[in-house]
Amino acid sequence: MEDKIHSLCEQILAESGDKTIPRIVELRDALHRYVQRLRDKLAHYPVPVERRAAFMQHPINCVVCRQPLTLLTTDACFDDNGKPVHNQCYVKLAA
Ligand SMILES: [Zn+2]
Repeated sequence: MEDKIHSLCEQILAESGDKTIPRIVELRDALHRYVQRLRDKLAHYPVPVERRAAFMQHPINCVVCRQPLTLLTTDACFDDNGKPVHNQCYVKLAA
C-alpha cells in the first residue's frame, strides 16, 4: 500500500506543473506520517499477555505443512474451509 502511494505521488509529480508540486509534496509527507502513526499503533496494539502466553503453549498449526502459525507475522491466513494455513501453503493449495 505504501509503495502504491509512493508510486502514485511520483507519477503525479512527474506529470504535474510547478504549481501543484508543493501540494503534492505536502500530501506525500502527510501520507508518510499517517502510515508511520499506523505502524506505531500496531506495534503497541494491546494483545493481552495471557492470550499471548496461551498461544505460545498451544500454537495453532498450519493444516498443510503442520508447522506453527505465528500471530506477529503476516504469514497466516485461512483456507476455503476456514482452517488456518500459511500464505505460501495456501498458494500451494490453490495451485
Ligand atoms: Zn504451512
